[in-house]
Order: sequence, then structure tokens, then C-alpha cells
Amino acid sequence: MAHNVGIVGAGIAGLHLGLYLQKHGLNATIITDREPESYRDSRLLNTVAHHHITLAREDYLGVNHWAAPELHYTHHDHFFNFPDPIRFRGDFTKPSRAVDYRIYLPALMADFAERGGNIEIAKIDSKDIAALADRFDLLVVSTGKTALGELFTYMPEHTPFSQPQRKLCVGLYTGVKQADPMGVTLSVSPGHGELIVIPTVTFDGIATALLMENIPGGDLEEMASLDYESDPKHFLQTLLDKLEKHHPSVFDRIDTTNFGLAQPQDLLQGSVVPTVRNTYVELDNGKCVIALGDVHTVVDPVMGQGANIASYSAFAVGEKIVQSDVLDSRFCEKVEWARQDRILGAARWTNLMLGPPSEAIGMLIGNMAQNKALADEFTENFNYPEKQWDCISTPERIHTWIAKSQQVGAAA
Ligand SMILES: Cc1cc2nc3c(=O)[nH]c(=O)nc-3n(C[C@H](O)[C@H](O)[C@H](O)COP(=O)(O)OP(=O)(O)OC[C@H]3O[C@@H](n4cnc5c(N)ncnc54)[C@H](O)[C@@H]3O)c2cc1C
Repeated sequence: MAHNVGIVGAGIAGLHLGLYLQKHGLNATIITDREPESYRDSRLLNTVAHHHITLAREDYLGVNHWAAPELHYTHHDHFFNFPDPIRFRGDFTKPSRAVDYRIYLPALMADFAERGGNIEIAKIDSKDIAALADRFDLLVVSTGKTALGELFTYMPEHTPFSQPQRKLCVGLYTGVKQADPMGVTLSVSPGHGELIVIPTVTFDGIATALLMENIPGGDLEEMASLDYESDPKHFLQTLLDKLEKHHPSVFDRIDTTNFGLAQPQDLLQGSVVPTVRNTYVELDNGKCVIALGDVHTVVDPVMGQGANIASYSAFAVGEKIVQSDVLDSRFCEKVEWARQDRILGAARWTNLMLGPPSEAIGMLIGNMAQNKALADEFTENFNYPEKQWDCISTPERIHTWIAKSQQVGAAA
């Protein structure tokens, strides 16, 4: 069926869906509130790592413009700042990559437009939705963490927190040494929070994202509100002092004389409340509207899942649109089933990692430090959050996974 689909929002969710439909010969119109030119000088949006499974989707769509091997990273380095620190590495089976979304999103908007896609610039309000839905066979809302998400009721059974679990302070910095080959570092300061260090393609080449995931009430929390603009020197010195104390393996990589934000607007402070919403809403006029990306599921960025599952979800929605003659509530139900295992896997796994570590998680960390195959599997599962959840959702599953990995190691 030659469906005509309207997509509100040009983030990764809306763009991957639009490009997928375009590739399958369907009409898609993207309606978004930002001109592509507005991204260049905007504040840092986020610091998104695409796992290799998402890069494979970019290859499929023909939008992988950053395929050069030197832009990729191959592994995760884990560091736990205990009195006796724990350190181990897990390797991916294929390289992954992070591109500044102020470059990524306009590039994909250009791809979509050059291939004949229609982009309309408009800010959509909830009162516009019914009329907009009437223009299309299906309307998809992918406007991120904005008020439009409230069209879709949230699912309390999958939304355990009413408050943010981390206070974020994320910037793109110069003066941080990269490993060769490049890797992402996940450093943990028990009781205070995590630091995720991501080599990121930005305007002047590669800079380093320092994503601080600070626990409310901990020693690092103030970084999420400390004002940079009024006193950049004080901000940077405070940051360095905190890194030295809490994340020493990262501090050791910093050349303090060249350390600073890549651009003054490359800092973002805030927080998110992890939320899962219903897949769709049926309007009074009988039309269905589908939630996609952060509108549907917001996860804390600590495990790097939000954009990766948004892209996965875009393909799941796209595939069902291509296969379906009728885009009604039955169709929406099938969309829900097609994507829920991975999306809930990401949400549940991330929420688990935000809590204080259980004894079984502590045992898993200790075993990963001794068993490279286990650490590699944990790392590879960043591509497949539902598999991660299969391995770690209960203490029994964690023990079984460790035992199995030890048997495989002994037999090898
Ligand atoms: C600091 C940080 C680090 C992160 N790191 C990672 C990571 O490593 N890996 C990962 O997978 N995820 C990560 N994420 C999450 C990721 O950024 C999001 O999950 C993802 O970008 C969501 O994409 P989206 O398309 O749903 O929404 P968005 O990217 O928010 O896009 C929304 C779109 O809708 C448009 N829009 C908004 N309101 C309206 C309106 N009213 N009318 C019309 N258009 C509108 C916007 O202009 C935009 O085009 C991170 C997030 C943060 C904050």
C-alpha cells in the first residue's frame, strides 16, 4: 500500500523512520521546528554513542557519512574507584562511533530532502494533532522529551522513578588523551556517580565527551549546576579537582594546560526522568498516532541506549508500515509487540544500573575483571539490551551466566 506518513520531529527517531520509508518507496513528510542551519551554533544537544548495530542501520539507509576507521572506537574500559580499584576491558565484535548531533541531524535532514523527502518547518502543539493526523494515513510523533509526549499516557509499571536518578554535566573537551585504538571509558565512583568518556566527532575533528552522571546528594552533584559562563576558570578547576578525586584514571589522561571546552556552548547540564509511555493513542476521528523515540521511552543516558533504541524502534515501525494494508489500532498493537522486548530491555537494564549495586551485580563486576570473555559479552550486549536483560535481570540469571562463562572458559 502506498501509505502517506507524517512524522513530527527530526531527531534520530523521525529521520531514521523517514529515510526507511523513503527507501521502501513510501511518502513521508517530516514536520519539525528547527531549520538545519540552526544546529551549527546551538548548545550541545547530547553526546550520543552509536553502537555498531546502529551503524549497520545507517549503512542500510545510505547515511553513514563517518565510516573512516579512525573515527571509531573498539572497546569499553571499566574503572571502579574502590580502595583497591578494579579495572577491566570489554571489546565489541565491531567498532562503534559517536558524532555530534549538531552535525549528524542536519546531515540526515539533507539526505532526506535530497532524495525527494518533504520537510516542513513548524512548531506543532497538541491542539494541532487532530488536523495533522487527518492529512496523513498515519501520524508519528517523535519530538523527544517535549510536552507533546503527554499525548501518550505513561506506563507506571515500567516507570519506577518520579525523579531523576542522576544530575548530568556533560561537555565536549579538548586536552584529553585518547587510547589507540580509541575506546569509551566507564568510570564509577561508588556513591557519587559515573563518568562516561566518549571520543566524539565534532566540528574540529575528535573531541572528548565527559558525561558525568552524578548521584543526587553526592560530592559530584554540584557540577550539574555550577555556572560555567560566569567563571570558566573556576568551573574547569572544580571539575579537574573532582576528576582527580573520583575518576583518577580519566584525570591521568588530561593535559591540564590544554584542557577546556571545545567551544563555549559545548556544555549541557540537567537531568532526565526515565519514562515509558504507551505506543499509541487513538484520536476521536479514529486516526492512530504512534509514539517514537524519547516520546515513547526516555532512559537515563548512563548505558548509552536512548538513540540506539530510537533507531531500532524507527525500523520496527517502518517495517510494520511497509507490511500493513491498514494503519489502525491493530497495526499499532503489532508495532508494540515488534519493539517492546528491546525497548523494555534497555529501560529495565538502565534502571537497574542506576540503583545501588546488588550483591550479584558486585559479583558480576568481580568476575568480568577476571574473565575477558564475560566482559566482552557484557560489552557486545550494549547492542542488544534485551540479551543483557536476559543475563542480569535476577541474581539467579547473573549466577547462571557467570557459571556458563566459566565452563566455556575451562573447556577452551
Ligand atoms: C547527555 C546525553 C547523552 C546521551 N548519550 C546517549 C548515548 O550515548 N547513546 C544513546 O543511544 N543515547 C544517548 N542519549 C539519548 C539520546 O540523545 C536520545 O534518546 C535521542 O537523541 C532521542 O531522539 P529522538 O529523535 O527521540 O528525539 P530528539 O533528538 O529530541 O528530536 C526531537 C525532534 O523533534 C523536534 N521537535 C521538538 N518539539 C517539536 C514540536 N513541538 N514541533 C515540531 N518539532 C518538534 C526537535 O527539533 C527535533 O528535531 C543521550 C542523551 C543525553 C541528554
